[in-house]
Amino acid sequence: MIRINENYLKLQASYLFSEIRRRTDEFQEANPDKDIIKLGIGDVTRPLPQACIEAFHRAVDEMADDATFRGYGPEQGYEFLREAIARVDFQDRGADVSPNEVFVSDGAKCDTGNIQEIFATDINIAIPDPVYPVDLDTNVMAGRTASFSDGRYGDITYLESTRENGFIPDLPGENVDLIYLCFPNNPTGATITESQLQAWVDFARENKALILYDAAYESFIQDPNLPKSIFEIEGAREVAIEFRSFSKTAGFTGTRCAYTVVPKSCMAYADKGGAHSVHDLWFRRQSTKFNAVSYPVQRAAEAIFSEEGRAQAMALIDYYLKNAKLIRKEIEALGYECVGGENSPYIWIDGKTDSWKFFDLLLEKAGVVSTPGAGFGKCGEGYIRISAFNNYENVQLAMQRIRQALS
Ligand SMILES: *Cc1c(COP(=O)(O)O)cnc(C)c1O
Repeated sequence: MIRINENYLKLQASYLFSEIRRRTDEFQEANPDKDIIKLGIGDVTRPLPQACIEAFHRAVDEMADDATFRGYGPEQGYEFLREAIARVDFQDRGADVSPNEVFVSDGAKCDTGNIQEIFATDINIAIPDPVYPVDLDTNVMAGRTASFSDGRYGDITYLESTRENGFIPDLPGENVDLIYLCFPNNPTGATITESQLQAWVDFARENKALILYDAAYESFIQDPNLPKSIFEIEGAREVAIEFRSFSKTAGFTGTRCAYTVVPKSCMAYADKGGAHSVHDLWFRRQSTKFNAVSYPVQRAAEAIFSEEGRAQAMALIDYYLKNAKLIRKEIEALGYECVGGENSPYIWIDGKTDSWKFFDLLLEKAGVVSTPGAGFGKCGEGYIRISAFNNYENVQLAMQRIRQALS
């Protein structure tokens, strides 16, 4: 008899985005003339930078010619892309990362979801609350958690992000082995300072733990004092892996390209056999189960690092940050407390009421779709997330309608 992985039965029905869609559709049906503005989902809306499009086209043409056709590429990604990443994203900023420590992939979602399988099932994990749901659910699937009750899984150390701690979790009081951190944060938009991140790196070194650092929103950081990479922090090369993505940086959500940095000095331990290279384990995993990103997509990603590509990608970020700034200004003027929106495309708003109630209020009174914070974890209750991914004109209109609805 074929049996299932019963850990899947522990998963909570991921009703967040389907419930948002259901309520939105229901409202639209009842109010067919109402124009609804969507500031809910974390997906970009603007097209790829022109430099990427041109490189993409050129690479497709190369695939049409005997002399330039390419089959399977190198497992870790083409050297041309890994070199550009190591140089521009790390070495130029004083972070010690070499091209052979970069693993190109088709998404940070897959990488953050897959990485846990190289570690033991009975390790202690620390997961933020609120959280990017992938980090939590992939560990539930792997059997690292007990059952769900009262809004939480057993056997997890939740790292709470609250107003009291400025949305930067405190170091855990207990022993943990694997730590998930994400900055700038999804969903809160909060950022971490160098000294706060240093404390996490020091903690990981003392405890022989490993930090999984999700920096998918790194390119939104404007404040020059904030770290863009965990590898700008002393000692991080021994205890951290970093995930990055071109999805939010350059509009690649539908094109698919990301990368993970696994330093050669990063170690994990076996009960009997001492220290093992995490890089070797991840290489083994990727070369067994993954067959690299398509050549044209890697060429398109490489173009982000050209002079025009960088300027065009930066213009995209600036566009969304202008939206974010407007959202934050307007919401604060209405007397609501917010975090994010300055170095992040997300604004996390204390709705002073139940998350779903506030969601319904914005939908019904202003025709604006947000994301209820409760869908990201217990600590998200009472909050909503507004995303800056839309046209400026729509954001202006949304804010005007929210102002009328709430004041
Ligand atoms: C959007 C996002 C990613 C990127 O995922 P891709 O699979 O590369 O598109 C990763 N982490 C977080 C927290 C995100 O919000």
